[in-house]
Amino acid sequence: MKIHTGIGYDVHQLQEGLPLWLGGVAVPHSKGLVGHSDADVLIHAICDALLGAAALGDIGKHFPDTDPAYKGIDSKVLLRHTCELVRRQGWAIANVDAILCLQKPKIAPFIPTMRQTLAEVMQLDIDDVSVKATTTEHLGFEGREEGISAIANVLIQK
Ligand code: MG
Repeated sequence: MKIHTGIGYDVHQLQEGLPLWLGGVAVPHSKGLVGHSDADVLIHAICDALLGAAALGDIGKHFPDTDPAYKGIDSKVLLRHTCELVRRQGWAIANVDAILCLQKPKIAPFIPTMRQTLAEVMQLDIDDVSVKATTTEHLGFEGREEGISAIANVLIQK
């Protein structure tokens, strides 16, 4: 059996009055993330981890932000497509573990829904999908609430 891991990282800027999409879930907050798509930083990190594990490039290669087709797109569509690309190469997706780095809002209440949503989109068991969140103790751009970052790690096998 062949085993690959992949890592993904993404950052988006926060702006007043935009919707905040994280892990495929709309999280009530005064600010949201700026981006060409719905700017779901967590999903983007997961997509990059999957593409990295399968050595298929990165999210910018597959879904360029210069392409009007992806303007305002629901990132769940990108994730579903990314999983298809990886599986088409003969890989099975074993698990995903991800971290959201943000100061506000509190993410804990939304984590079960995020895991459920991601598991459905990725066609995985909920036990194979982990989402965690941390603050940065008010340090850096996440701590100043200027943006949110996300890190994801996946394992695939064939
Ligand atoms: Mg992104």
